[in-house]
Amino acid sequence: MSVARARIAAVETHDIRFPTSREHDGSDAMNPDPDYSAAYVVLRADVADCAGRELAGHGFAFTIGRGNDVQVAAINALRSHIVGRDLDELCADPGVISRALVGDSQLRWLGPEKGVMQMAIGAVVNAVWDLAAKRAGKPVWQFLADAEPEWLVSQIDFRYIEDALSRDEALELLRAGKAGSAERAARLREAGYPAYTTSPGWLGYSDEKLTRLAKQAVADGFTQIKLKVGADLEDDVRRFRAARAAVGDELRIAVDANQRWNVPEAVDWVGALAEFDPYWIEEPTSPDDILGHAAIRRAVAPVKVATGEHVQNRIVFKQLLQAGSIDILQLDSARVAGVNENLAILLLAAKFGVPVCPHAGGVGLCELVQHLSMFDYVALTGTTDDRVIEFVDHLHEHFTDPVRISGGSYLAPSAPGFSAEMHPESIATYRFPDGTFWMADLRERNEGVAA
Ligand SMILES: [Mg+2]
Repeated sequence: MSVARARIAAVETHDIRFPTSREHDGSDAMNPDPDYSAAYVVLRADVADCAGRELAGHGFAFTIGRGNDVQVAAINALRSHIVGRDLDELCADPGVISRALVGDSQLRWLGPEKGVMQMAIGAVVNAVWDLAAKRAGKPVWQFLADAEPEWLVSQIDFRYIEDALSRDEALELLRAGKAGSAERAARLREAGYPAYTTSPGWLGYSDEKLTRLAKQAVADGFTQIKLKVGADLEDDVRRFRAARAAVGDELRIAVDANQRWNVPEAVDWVGALAEFDPYWIEEPTSPDDILGHAAIRRAVAPVKVATGEHVQNRIVFKQLLQAGSIDILQLDSARVAGVNENLAILLLAAKFGVPVCPHAGGVGLCELVQHLSMFDYVALTGTTDDRVIEFVDHLHEHFTDPVRISGGSYLAPSAPGFSAEMHPESIATYRFPDGTFWMADLRERNEGVAA
């Protein structure tokens, strides 16, 4: 008698949008009115988990509103690679599906390894890791930290990066990272991982709100905050002065221009803010401008240069590191092709000795990226020195295992998986355009026009 093998029975996608632009949450110099959105994917298996619930992997790409439907369409284009996959094989080696998706030559033409397809692959690959970790009964950070170095290296595509990081070097770094990892895991569970907050600094907030939230950040135990800059220098000087007055001289204040400037403009602008002691300048210019970042870094030191949330793949990160363009590497959990590529990026950063301070915020990015930093601490670099994960206090209530922040640190997740799962009610409410929120919104606007 043959036993039927468990498989991926269905791939479900949702266009989920939150009306965040109405409160100016998330507003910056390039993105004045973001509606934080998720192109959300669920991989449904035809078996139950140990609690008798349907087993499913959850993942998403983050966008800021219009275009989320395009992102969903890109995920749907990957469907045929996933439906029918053997569950045991998929979870035992996520590298197989990762290579299959990246290597689909017709879809690869749309990148390669960048943009909407790359983010779609990231959503699916992260959903596979969610599934694999759930089956193993571990949160992703622990699933990674417990894995054998040889297996982790087998998950990485070294094509285009071997000139900077060989397989053997990666293996060596991961083997070295194993020493003392059990003690660090225990310490992580006790003390968490340091965070910084961007909540006070959105460009659309009044000075009063900025001051109030900056003081709150200090009271909450954060040792770093971040301000959005780059739209108007006079405003930036005034807002930075207010923030400095609110938090004192000791607390680190990073600034973020969200790609607003040309290279010389970036140098001048950061120079004009120098009296307030900015800790880092984030995304001073185009994320593709590797040599521009290097020039800015040379000119604005000791202010640090940070970028990465829009860096599309490991190859651009490799060059930023080779060219000495950055002091801080800001990987993003949902911009590149998922956990497999982020393992490569963490290893590149470790090799070059550049601290990783991940980008987060948006919808669910904090939930995901905490796992990557925690793995890095427990089983790769072994340190949290000069490392902080971004924290933004929006939209966590929509997740079944939301991040927990205490005393300015992320507490380690303990639930199995990638913390990526949203409540079904949140999906039903904010699905665009037919969720209950958007339908009511449309009715209201129509009535407004009629009145
Ligand atoms: Mg940023």
